[in-house]
Amino acid sequence: MFDTLSDKLDSVFKKLRGHGRLTEQHIKETMREIRLVLLEADVNFRVVKSFIAKVSERAASQEILKSLTPAQQVIKVVREELSRLMGEGEDNTLNLSVKPPVPIMLCGLQGAGKTTTCGKLALKLRREKRNPMLVPADVYRPAAIAQLKTLGRQLDVEVFDSQAGQDPVDICDQALRYAELNGFDTIILDTAGRLHVDTELMGELQRIVNKVQPQEILFVADAMTGQDAVTVAASFDEQLPLTGVILTKLDGDARGGAALSIREVTGKPIKLVGMGEKLDALEQFYPDRMAQRILGMGDVLSLIEKAQDAVNADDAAAMEQQLRKDGFTLETFLEQMQMVKKMGSMDSLLKMIPGAGKALKKAQGAQLPENEMKKIEAIIRSMTPRERLNHKILNGSRRLRIAKGSGTRVQDVNQLLKRFVEAQKMMKKMQKMGPKGLKGMFGQ
Ligand code: GDP
Repeated sequence: MFDTLSDKLDSVFKKLRGHGRLTEQHIKETMREIRLVLLEADVNFRVVKSFIAKVSERAASQEILKSLTPAQQVIKVVREELSRLMGEGEDNTLNLSVKPPVPIMLCGLQGAGKTTTCGKLALKLRREKRNPMLVPADVYRPAAIAQLKTLGRQLDVEVFDSQAGQDPVDICDQALRYAELNGFDTIILDTAGRLHVDTELMGELQRIVNKVQPQEILFVADAMTGQDAVTVAASFDEQLPLTGVILTKLDGDARGGAALSIREVTGKPIKLVGMGEKLDALEQFYPDRMAQRILGMGDVLSLIEKAQDAVNADDAAAMEQQLRKDGFTLETFLEQMQMVKKMGSMDSLLKMIPGAGKALKKAQGAQLPENEMKKIEAIIRSMTPRERLNHKILNGSRRLRIAKGSGTRVQDVNQLLKRFVEAQKMMKKMQKMGPKGLKGMFGQ
């Protein structure tokens, strides 16, 4: 996410740090560079202008110039202003605490990710113990209704039975009544999209809004389309009482322009972000965490949350019991790795750790952790249960057989066993230290 933007800002700050004492001229130069980097990232021209004006004013203060760590202070100002630009300090949670059924309407251009996001949102709400229903209100593209029905089946969420050719306003109205009678507390309206902003479509969306009075009207924007997304958002915002934005495809190589401009241009907060095609890839948007990621400072808080989501209490208890019974075996090693895998791709996790993203890039020739994980999994799965419990019985010929079975080389099997033995030693050490020692390890 935003790799080019991060790299370029990093070079600007590296130069700044090299100066020791900072003068007003240094600040001016830095601001000029940041301005260019932001424009290259496709951030709206006016947004860049006011951002640079604010940062310049704060950064050129005598307090910062005379401080012992001026470069750090400037970076801090940039971070704070970036967070503010993306809506830090504002409430950007979905406001659903009204009398059910609560209608949520998603709108946007075709291909932005509306239908997929409806599915993701249904899953998110269900995990929050709500009972959502999906409503296909795009009657012009029959495939859209079928797509939502498929998503509903996958998620086991009810999809309102709308038909192509029905009036979308009637569909939404009927769906609301159906939800009321059948105990659904939220309805998610998947509205039609066009390739361009279109007055007829806007009229239809306005009629839906008037009829069902959605509690949330969320504009779905494709982050990959940069400033185009922002222009379209502004035009939707003029004609509909939008309550927020969902930014999709942030997992791709979007340049950052949409994320950094859309809040300022529309005045509407980014509430959620799409981080992948999978249905669980919808996250709450945190401006400050995003600013940290852009500045290469990692995002430890999101990492911890992901860990909490991925490892449920039952799994953790089962693992603890197994650890007590058999000790740390190859089986537990594999299970632990699978838990980590549930948290997302290794590459994306590493980027959340401060400095790790950069370190990863520097490790030239090193194999990607993702491939490495697959290899390890294949090797352990090629072992017999007895071997997984006791790796010491693995002799040369078994190691060769396992390498063949898993499509790897004997060296790979040996390396894995070496790593496992190291992990086993580490586990023993940690068990001796207890929870207090662990805390110490993480410097708390
Ligand atoms: P709609 O026309 O607005 O309903 O768009 P769709 O929901 O059909 O999505 C268009 C394409 O974008 C599909 O291929 C989705 O899988 C993809 N997509 C949606 N959200 C995301 C996301 O957050 N990340 C990625 N990588 N792809 C996404």
